[in-house]
Amino acid sequence: MAKVRLENIKRKFNNVTAVEDITFEIPDGQFWVLVGPSGCGKSTILRTIAGLETATSGNLYIGDLLVNNIPARQRDVAMVFQNYALYPHMTVAQNIAFGLQMRKVDAQVIQQRVETVARSLALEHLLERKPKQLSGGQQQRVALGRAIAREAQVFLLDEPLSNLDAQLRDDTRAELKQLHHNLGITTIYVTHDQVEAMTLADRIVILNRGRIQQIGEPQSVYAKPANRMVATFLGNPPMNILPGKYKNGTFLVESQVIPCPMRVRDALRLAEGQVVDLGIRPEDLFINELQTNKEVTTLTVEVRLVEPLGRETLIRAGLPSSSVQVNIQQAGAIRLCLGDRISLGLDLEQLFIFDAT
Ligand code: ADP
Repeated sequence: MAKVRLENIKRKFNNVTAVEDITFEIPDGQFWVLVGPSGCGKSTILRTIAGLETATSGNLYIGDLLVNNIPARQRDVAMVFQNYALYPHMTVAQNIAFGLQMRKVDAQVIQQRVETVARSLALEHLLERKPKQLSGGQQQRVALGRAIAREAQVFLLDEPLSNLDAQLRDDTRAELKQLHHNLGITTIYVTHDQVEAMTLADRIVILNRGRIQQIGEPQSVYAKPANRMVATFLGNPPMNILPGKYKNGTFLVESQVIPCPMRVRDALRLAEGQVVDLGIRPEDLFINELQTNKEVTTLTVEVRLVEPLGRETLIRAGLPSSSVQVNIQQAGAIRLCLGDRISLGLDLEQLFIFDAT
């Protein structure tokens, strides 16, 4: 196990800067997730840590060792790829053993380690099969098994669940979390899926266009997003963004008036007439009846779509030019028709203000 430290890592491909200013330190044994939209630089960072890419500038440490010039196979990291990269002509046991054989580990030790790893991943009954005789989830476990067998100091996982169907993905995600809990190996995990990021990570690193946007515990990043990109990236359905104009201690949103909360007035120096984006999470809007103890305001909207999802109901509503999504938990009690004009309650404590884009 080891900590991993990146200092000002930058990677350019010809004229294109894939990532820059990448600085963070992952403490020994933690599970960090690099998350962001496609092309934001996640894989480039992971591959640089693995030694499959060379940073254009910056320093990379694994443990206390500067590894900038140390080749991939000497870095003591194990990488699991999206497509698992198993050897098709080898059995599961041979795939798991391969890295150890390359290091000339004693045959008896290899056999023991393969058995232990297979047991921890429930692969014992599959050891003699070839990869093509396995399901996607089983192949994924073999790829993990190969990494575990090597007893690497750091695990690097690049979208390891993206080839699995939804149910298997949920199950395997839970297994991965349990596995990390048991093994305690420093793990860096790349995904574009915010649910994976939120559920797996000790810390998430949110990237956009090659730069870090925010680093933190998933819940605190969700509660206090640093900017609009982070706010709209985390959350499903995503945060609603409404363009507004600051005027006389209020925000004008189309023809409606939303009071500017004190904390916002204190924190931001808003100029009269300044255009801003108001952010409201779908779960922070409610059908206007409850929660009178909070500082609330109302938005009048027209119902455009009602989507019952069992325990909850999603409503899309118009303002009229902009639209909002509302996530109502008490599904059964709501009877709404398309075209209804309703008042939505908004807890002002939960209102976010961002610079207009
Ligand atoms: P992500 O993993 O977040 O999808 P990548 O790290 O793969 O993003 O890519 C980041 C950026 O770097 C993208 O603009 C991509 O086109 C570019 N890039 C990645 N690898 C190469 C390469 N080998 N040559 C040129 N450009 C690359």
